[in-house]
Amino acid sequence: MASAAYNGLTDDQLLEGVQQVTFQYFWDFAHPVSGLTREGYTHAPDICTTGGTGMGLMAVVVGANRGFVTRAQAADRVLQMLTFLDESATQAQMLGRASLIAHETAHMWFGDLVTMNWFDDVWTKEVFANFMAAKIVHPSFPEVDHELRFLLAHHPTAYGVDRTEGANPIRQALPNLREAGTLYGAIIYQKAPVIMRQLELLVGEDPFRDGMREYLQTFAFGNATWPALVEILDRNSPEDLRAWSDVWVEEPGRPTVWAELQPGGDGTVASLTLRQADPAGEGRVWAWRS
Ligand SMILES: [Zn+2]
Repeated sequence: MASAAYNGLTDDQLLEGVQQVTFQYFWDFAHPVSGLTREGYTHAPDICTTGGTGMGLMAVVVGANRGFVTRAQAADRVLQMLTFLDESATQAQMLGRASLIAHETAHMWFGDLVTMNWFDDVWTKEVFANFMAAKIVHPSFPEVDHELRFLLAHHPTAYGVDRTEGANPIRQALPNLREAGTLYGAIIYQKAPVIMRQLELLVGEDPFRDGMREYLQTFAFGNATWPALVEILDRNSPEDLRAWSDVWVEEPGRPTVWAELQPGGDGTVASLTLRQADPAGEGRVWAWRS
């Protein structure tokens, strides 16, 4: 089997590394609420011969059964996860596949262990899975500027839609399941990941992780909503996260922002003030931390 030589690693080695790191991450993160045991995992070679990939494949199957993805989409992801990359594989392809495995594995916890109450919150499991996948995979690609990559992949597209008058909020009511497909677009795929990172920044990395753990623990083998997570995080944060969520998640749009600069003479800056205004003229205030 031809293997891609990437950063001194073969494709097989990278794959194995991603699987180990992914499983370890969730073992540390979600144990003991995961309902999985290390023994059960190790002793079921026919089901999960390889850590992250096996878990990811199971998550795809569960997702297809629950109607989160179509059978065709599930088949496509399974193929991507099982296809070995050849020697000409690019860094983006390697990163892409590693991220896919970590993403699908994350769904064992965010989507399967805890399922959203209704399709108005399906976006949460996607955002959580991407968020976790980035934390797992990025350290294996230290030479990649992940911040720049994230910015380019999300902000311009999110702004492009969110600045229009017809923009929808991230969280939308869905009275009929047949309309579920209409929820998905740049607001869920590009804006939601941005606000997820912003939420972590607002709360702090450790309290945020603890809140996510509590969320898993509280709703394991059950259903949950976005407001339930906000409530958990809000309890342990001095910030008003409910107000933050109301304007960033439950409402469309974003503020117009500008900077006011006071020069201090001899080339220095005496003060820099960031101001915001509601372009819709509704007087909304978007809480942020930069
Ligand atoms: Zn997903």
